[in-house]
Formats: sequence, structure tokens, C-alpha cells
Amino acid sequence: MKILVTGGAGFIGSHLCDRLLSEGHEVVVIDNLVTGNIENITHLAGRDDFSFIKYDVSNFIFIPGRADAVMHLASPASPNPTSPYGYLQLPIQTLKVGALGTHNALGVARSHEASFLLASTSEVYGDPKEHPQRESYWGHVDPVGPRSVYDEAKRFAEAITMAYHRYHDLDTHIARIFNTYGPRMRPDDGRVVPNFIVQALQGKPLTVYGDGSQTRSFCYVDDLVDGLYRLLSSSEALPVNLGNPVELSILSLAEEINAITGNKGGIERIPGGRAPADPERRKPDISKAKKVLDWEPVIDLKTGLDKTIADFDSRL
Ligand code: UDP
Repeated sequence: MKILVTGGAGFIGSHLCDRLLSEGHEVVVIDNLVTGNIENITHLAGRDDFSFIKYDVSNFIFIPGRADAVMHLASPASPNPTSPYGYLQLPIQTLKVGALGTHNALGVARSHEASFLLASTSEVYGDPKEHPQRESYWGHVDPVGPRSVYDEAKRFAEAITMAYHRYHDLDTHIARIFNTYGPRMRPDDGRVVPNFIVQALQGKPLTVYGDGSQTRSFCYVDDLVDGLYRLLSSSEALPVNLGNPVELSILSLAEEINAITGNKGGIERIPGGRAPADPERRKPDISKAKKVLDWEPVIDLKTGLDKTIADFDSRL
């Protein structure tokens, strides 16, 4: 297949490109490099089956020739208010790429009669009142809260994807991606895994925001990409959670990273560090992915962290 990947220079997007190419597909990346990083795809430059277009998909997209699938991953994704790549620093761009960008990417898919996959997010569940989160849960999102620029953009993206499916008979898929980590995350991304790894490699204390009892479930990027690939090839149009169901507190994540790296810097609790509306708990219910995609993560936290720490170590 010839597959268009928006956001293909990003963290997840670039790993997805590697997988698609290894499966024998042709890949076209469209990325405006606002949060994506060209270095993530430079190893693919010069291949006959790969091309890169620097472009903002919030504008009309024209792709000549054939396209068999469009995978729409373009979006800022870090909630961290101090990161230059966070969606709070790029609020209008985030809303535009989630809304206009998704519309344009759907338009390309429709004009080529291609399949479409939307990279949605666990953030559609907001600060969830149901735990773990199943796809049937409608979420708990403040439409005017600070995170709404991301959460509501993705909720709109899901709605317009379903509208194209229902009214234009487009073959569409929606992945609700939970916390993902791995090589190529930006060291200054601001999210917890890169922050902790950089701090640990520098021998500094790990900054645990609040008391660290808030939980997340971390999925290694190769597992996630495998889920995206299976979802694209499936017949499932309604949203599917993709994430690792092993839930742990942020404090235990810090302890694990200090143990692996042998960091003597310890932990520094930052009582006011948690961003407004920082969700208390997050853990996917992946029974649907198991059933319809025969998918579940296979890489445990220690193995995934070892690979990620080695990558950060080589880049820092
Ligand atoms: N966090 C932390 N220290 C950091 C960065 C993040 O304790 O240096 C916490 C943050 O408050 C949140 C959790 O780690 O409770 C996960 O945050 P992240 O920014 O990775 O993404 P989120 O899961 O909130 O989208």
C-alpha cells in the first residue's frame, strides 16, 4: 500500500513509518515540524519507498497519484506547560490540526478511496470518573479548561471521523492512545518519562509533581505501533483503546528509573507541580483490542525503559 502518515516525523509517527516500511509499504510523511523532529526520519532519506513533505495539514492537502491509506497522527501532544512542544503553548495550532487537519486528512482519504486511521487519545476521557476506562465511557472533560484545546480537538476529530464513516461510507478507524514512551521522545518534551530519564542520567533528583500517587499506564512505542497497524487492517470503525493496562503510580515510576540508572539523586517532591486538571488515574481497559485485533502489549516496563534510557544516553 501507499500510506500517507501525517505527523510522521513525530515520536510515534516515525516509529510507525519504520514499521510500515518493514511491512513492504510505501510511505509519504507530511509534517510541519512544529513538534516533530526531522532527525526522527533522516535514516529513511533516499529510500525509493519513502518521501517527506514539509507541510501544515491544517491547510488543504493535495496528494497526486495513488493513496491507499491515510494515518493521521499530526498534533502537539505534551500537556506540560513548560515544554516548548506542549499543546498549552500551541493552543490554536492544536485545535486547528485536530479539527481542520482531521477534516483535510479525511478529505484526502475520501478523494483516494483510501482507508483512514485517526490517532485519538485517552484524553477524550478527561479526568475519568470510570476506572479503568472502556471505550463506552463518554469522558469527563471541561470544555473550557486548559486541556480542552487538546481534548476537545480530539473529541471533534473522533466525531468528524465517524461522520465520514457514516455519511461517506469511508473505511475509518479510531485509536485511543494512552501514555506511550520510547526512543526518540524529545528530552525537553516535558512528559514524565523523558523528564525522569534526563534527570536520572544527569544524576539529579527526579521531580515528582504532587505526592506522586497519581497513576498512569505506560505502553512501549513498538507495542503501540503494532496496535495501530492491526487496527488499520481491521474492520473496526468505533474507537479502540491502545495502551498498556499495567498501572503504576508516578512515584513508583521514579523509583524504577532511579533503580535502573543507579541514580543517587533521589526524588524531589514538587507539591504545586501538577498541571491544572492533571488526571488522578489512567488505565486502559483493552479487552476490545484483545478481542477485535488480537492485540496486547508484550514489552514489560523494565525492558522498555532499558531501551529508552539507552537511546537518551546516546543522544544527550
Ligand atoms: N509528572 C511528574 N513529574 C514530571 C512530569 C510529569 O510528576 O517531571 C507527572 C504529571 O503531573 C502527571 C504524570 O506525571 O501526573 C504524567 O504526566 P505527563 O506529562 O507525562 O502526561 P499526561 O499523562 O498527564 O498526559
